[in-house]
Amino acid sequence: MSTDATGTPSTDASFRAALDAFAARTRPLVALDFDGCLAPLVDDRDAARPTPRAAAALAALGDLPEDRRPLLALVSGRPLEPLSRLAAPPAGTALVGSHGAEVRLPGDDAATAPLEEHERALLADVTAAVRRVVETHPGTDLEPKPAGAVLHTRNADVATASAAARAVVDGPGRLPGVHALRGKDVVELAVLDVDKGRSVQMLRERLGADVVLYAGDDVTDEHALAVLDPAAGDVGVKVGPGETAASFRVADPDAVAEVLEHLVAAFSR
Ligand SMILES: [Mg+2]
Repeated sequence: MSTDATGTPSTDASFRAALDAFAARTRPLVALDFDGCLAPLVDDRDAARPTPRAAAALAALGDLPEDRRPLLALVSGRPLEPLSRLAAPPAGTALVGSHGAEVRLPGDDAATAPLEEHERALLADVTAAVRRVVETHPGTDLEPKPAGAVLHTRNADVATASAAARAVVDGPGRLPGVHALRGKDVVELAVLDVDKGRSVQMLRERLGADVVLYAGDDVTDEHALAVLDPAAGDVGVKVGPGETAASFRVADPDAVAEVLEHLVAAFSR
């Protein structure tokens, strides 16, 4: 079916059998990384697109009759908006952005974050604290996010910008459970420790999936591959070279497309 990074055919009967068994389950979830999995890695991140073959295979999965269609999800480190725009997945695809800090499930109007009760309370405190800083530092802005609050200082004078950033980092940024990230003209305070493993478990629960296939190319995908249970029918696919917890490996996005094409045929039977 495909070759691994060393060129070894991994057509394995075992891979095909795992895919066929996956497709025979009641509520299977196909969850895919984007960059390096559906889309080749490129220098200009905004130019990333799925290969034509990967786009067609994903569309074909989405076009299956409803009673034969798997649940679909994209799980990416990218923020949700560019993920949605660049990947252009079939309608009804669940989207997980920023490694899990932004989630849009089918039927949701907007992105939310999978927050627990204490994280929700912390987010309210952090947002209020950043708002107080913004109110006393002209030219600064608050951008509320599903799992955090961002201070923007681009339009403030240098002294005000630096004072506001300090107030945010030394104030709400020090609260237990808050992760502060300083960028150019921004300070982002996040209340969620996310990874793709937690994201896949969240998708499994929220979508009611009884089995999961996950494919990804990066070290961050290993968190997702590690929460899979092959003995229970989950299928992990590593794309490209490198250490992995996945049971199977393919070479590149077109080989991922081949896996998806195999699934389209299996779901159609
Ligand atoms: Mg990737």
